[in-house]
Amino acid sequence: MSKILIIEDETDIADLEKDYLELSDFEVAVCNTGLSGLQKAQSESFDLIVLDLMLPEMDGFEVCRQVRQTQNIPIIMVSAKKDDIDKIRGLGLGADDYMTKPFSPSELVARVKAHLSRYERLVGAGVINKSENDTVEIRGLRIDKTARRVFIEGEEKIFTTKEFDLLTFLAENPNHVFTKEELFREIWDMESIGDIATVTVHIKKIREKIEKDNSKPDYIETIWGVGYRFKV
Ligand code: CA
Repeated sequence: MSKILIIEDETDIADLEKDYLELSDFEVAVCNTGLSGLQKAQSESFDLIVLDLMLPEMDGFEVCRQVRQTQNIPIIMVSAKKDDIDKIRGLGLGADDYMTKPFSPSELVARVKAHLSRYERLVGAGVINKSENDTVEIRGLRIDKTARRVFIEGEEKIFTTKEFDLLTFLAENPNHVFTKEELFREIWDMESIGDIATVTVHIKKIREKIEKDNSKPDYIETIWGVGYRFKV
């Protein structure tokens, strides 16, 4: 049975979420402050976290940041303000999904199920290691996230900050097609002036470093008219 941790200070909402998730056969724990939620997440093993943004003691941004330092489990962030969603994305905290209150409990259950099955698939495929999130390894490519170093067949390649961020983001979301606009929003500061051609230039530079043959890429595939996809 999958274990879900709900971190939510509004007890009515927490109770409702708990009831619906339990009806779907999940085991559910609830914490009402950010700090107690973080401690619970660090001391017990959960399969997914539903994390409210505005919380006493420690906000959801900080909880997400700290959980991500040691865990890869899916995190669904919940906020009362639509504007916060952009902020969450912009901060690149590693949340897997975002929901704006009010939402229907059945929508939450559907998203929890979708993220759990995606996570299990990635763990099964060896893309994600449950116990450590320092390294992403896909075939001959190894990304050391802690040291921010990239190796291809054991040989180190030098990456700029944005090239590293872009490659890591794609590699951690394999098989998902992202448009250039989405990648630009994800990797570059939302306030920064730039255009999506920046994404094309960076993809080209990354490919020069990791692909054997740019016309037949092993890793980053161009989906014509749409964007890019990291192949598993
Ligand atoms: Ca709240």
